[in-house]
Amino acid sequence: MISLYGVTKTYGPVRALVNVTCTLAPSAITVLRGPNGSGKSTLLAVVGTMARPTAGRLDHGELGRSRRDVRSTLGWVGHDSLCYPDLTGRQNIELAATLHGCSPDQAFIRAAERFDLTAFANRAFRTYSRGQRQRVALARALVHSPRLLLLDEPTTGLDAGACERLVRVLHEETARGATVVLSTHDSVFASEVANAIVALDRGRVVTAA
Ligand code: ADP
Ligand code: MG
Repeated sequence: MISLYGVTKTYGPVRALVNVTCTLAPSAITVLRGPNGSGKSTLLAVVGTMARPTAGRLDHGELGRSRRDVRSTLGWVGHDSLCYPDLTGRQNIELAATLHGCSPDQAFIRAAERFDLTAFANRAFRTYSRGQRQRVALARALVHSPRLLLLDEPTTGLDAGACERLVRVLHEETARGATVVLSTHDSVFASEVANAIVALDRGRVVTAA
């Protein structure tokens, strides 16, 4: 269980998060809702240790106490794909697997099957459509079976079939015990995956279930 206690994050005069207290359960998908600028991406960054709270405290529970512990078991998909444009999708996934000490061949086979990558995996990432890029970014983030999975608007660019695949994959990830936290504006997707909802408005939690 990840717990946030009164987390505030300010950027100069901008209050991105204000006194956020909530829990993020393992083996569950927590969906962050809220309008643009409400603090969803900032909350993901704070939970992933990419941003430090200005005030308040986080407890990552069994994931460990140090930033290094958390980052070693973090899967992250933000607005940037983190993929190398001149490598193929396959090479990007194999490289991520190798860096995490996993078998590159097995990682690619599993990723291709889960995200239906075979048709385009062997050409350069820079040639991909928005949705193809997103599928590779998601596959890449999962190669090491992270215990904490943070996804910022993961359905961006995905068609209906790819969204369905993502729903299945996220349920598989929580079934093996992962803590999944994601932001989305897609109400249908949210209703299919949410085990809990944290709603933000101008940096504050307005409801948490
Ligand atoms: P959301 O993801 O819900 O759209 P964000 O977490 O990205 O919202 O942003 C919350 C608020 O913090 C916004 O007003 C945004 O402009 C501001 N913000 C985010 N990052 C920075 C930054 N690096 N510097 C200044 N302001 C920022
Ligand atoms: Mg955002």
